[in-house]
Amino acid sequence: MKDIRDYSLDELKDVFKGWGQTAYRAKQAFSWLYQKRAASFDLMSNLSRELRKKLKENFSLNRLRLDKLQESSDGTKKFLFALEDGSLIESVLIPVKDRLTACLSSQAGCKFSCGFCASGVSGFKRNLRTGEIISQLLEIYYMLKDSAVTNVVFMGTGEPLDNYENVLKAIRIINAPEGLNIGARRITISTCGIIPGIKRLSTEGLQVELSVSLHAADDTTRARLMPVNKKYPLKDLISACKEYAALTKRQVTFEYVLIKGLNCSKEAADDLVRLLTGWECKVNLLVYNPVDEFLYQPPEEREVEFFVWLLRKKGIVVTLRKSRGKDIDGACGQLRAKYLK
Ligand code: SF4
Repeated sequence: MKDIRDYSLDELKDVFKGWGQTAYRAKQAFSWLYQKRAASFDLMSNLSRELRKKLKENFSLNRLRLDKLQESSDGTKKFLFALEDGSLIESVLIPVKDRLTACLSSQAGCKFSCGFCASGVSGFKRNLRTGEIISQLLEIYYMLKDSAVTNVVFMGTGEPLDNYENVLKAIRIINAPEGLNIGARRITISTCGIIPGIKRLSTEGLQVELSVSLHAADDTTRARLMPVNKKYPLKDLISACKEYAALTKRQVTFEYVLIKGLNCSKEAADDLVRLLTGWECKVNLLVYNPVDEFLYQPPEEREVEFFVWLLRKKGIVVTLRKSRGKDIDGACGQLRAKYLK
């Protein structure tokens, strides 16, 4: 049976039409799924018994199985969900001031093997369906009682632009007023730099935030850290990002994890300034959170301060982010990697 959460509202309307039902009924069912967050067809009390039976006969509405929940002293919660085929994915819930951000996975595993990320360690398994992406958020909602998720980021396991159609459909459901009604500007796609995906996203008419994992501003270091740079080098990547900013009127954010001896020297700061000067963008710096699987280490505090100072002196907009969930398996893919060992 097909997962009903794989369907957009328009697709559901078509199914209902085929059953001789009105678009209004499809909208009611959609609203039960996302606005009232019903986890069972039986709860859809304003649909007739016959229609509920038909839904049950044709669609599944299965829950994700929560295999592990870790909670940090800073309030960050990390979920390890098992999918129907046994694939494991991570989702994270991060409270910061008045925001509650859900970080979702888009693939089981990852093909891109970034040198600091545990998600790619055991390779790529498969793309997630739209319903599996949405279900992570719904499971989080089922657990939250009175609070609501304010922001969604695609920074969990996998590369969202490598599962473009399913991620985009999920975003449209998350964004739709009849769906989860989270504004596009509160939804962020984080990419390792898949240029065709960035270009395609810029033409969708969606004002979602684009966040690009940069981590080095010269091709040699970046390719060492992120093999994807060999296919999509910095010059082309930055040009695609500028095009995205121009077409969507959204500022692009660059993520930069500071790793000792690798990307936080004065020369690295000069490269970054050269790359980002002259157009409006921002940089999020994060100090590396050591992961068992890799030998990298975080820089000293004074090195971090010097790097930030060098960038700000040259007019680069920089935020030094606090690492969240340090006392749990907080780094990307770490919890999943532990359970796949
Ligand atoms: S950082 Fe993203 S793209 Fe790179 S290996 Fe991890 S999940 Fe994949």
